[in-house]
Amino acid sequence: MSWSGGKDSTASIILAHENNEPLDTIVFCEVMYDLKNNISGENPEHIKFIKEEAKPLFESWGYKVEILRANQDYLDFFHHIIKHPRKHMDHKGKKFGFPVYGMCGVKRSLKLKPINDYYKNVQDVVHYVGICIDEKKRLESLHKQSNRISLLERYGYTEQMAKEKCEEYGLLSPSYKYSKRGGCWFCPNAKLEEHRIIKERYPDIWNQFVALEDEDNIANYKFNVFGKTLHEIDNELRQNQRN
Ligand code: SF4
Repeated sequence: MSWSGGKDSTASIILAHENNEPLDTIVFCEVMYDLKNNISGENPEHIKFIKEEAKPLFESWGYKVEILRANQDYLDFFHHIIKHPRKHMDHKGKKFGFPVYGMCGVKRSLKLKPINDYYKNVQDVVHYVGICIDEKKRLESLHKQSNRISLLERYGYTEQMAKEKCEEYGLLSPSYKYSKRGGCWFCPNAKLEEHRIIKERYPDIWNQFVALEDEDNIANYKFNVFGKTLHEIDNELRQNQRN
């Protein structure tokens, strides 16, 4: 099971446990912001939940839980020098900069690559994937793949039912307090409340992140696709500081 810690993949593990499905290994990949200084790119409450609550419980159920990391981090990604730019782009020799909305290279290199590398060493793997019965299009494409199974489909679970199943076991990630999405706190899709938690808990890291916008020679220098720069988001957070 490739596990994100979100409600669908977590509910799938619970269903495997309840129904004695033949699950042996659960694989989670932690995206890192700064590997050298051990700073995670995951929402701080989410990664605490993964490591301190869900993982020990799953291990007590007899499952092996692997937490993978790439050997690169977000800062490597940001500072990567472009050698072969896309056609008509004047980016040769520039630092890559912020992830591009809809084509996130962070996902490819820091999340999917470690997972794919892990599976290369596993023979005859069958994946459980967290797709609910109300996600028709995703199920249609799942049915075309012989080595992927949705336990949520097998047991007739909607997204709401998956959420309730997680709540029943105390396994709904606290990240849902901040956003419906999961993922990296430095994501262009991150909501204001996701940024706030970093600014409040780790002000030095947040300030370093905002300062990336001031670096020279950046190809993708604009942070947010919704038209706000990091400096503007920072100002907004300062003005709306909670008491
Ligand atoms: S959460 Fe955002 S930044 Fe992280 S891998 Fe996904 S799209 Fe990329």
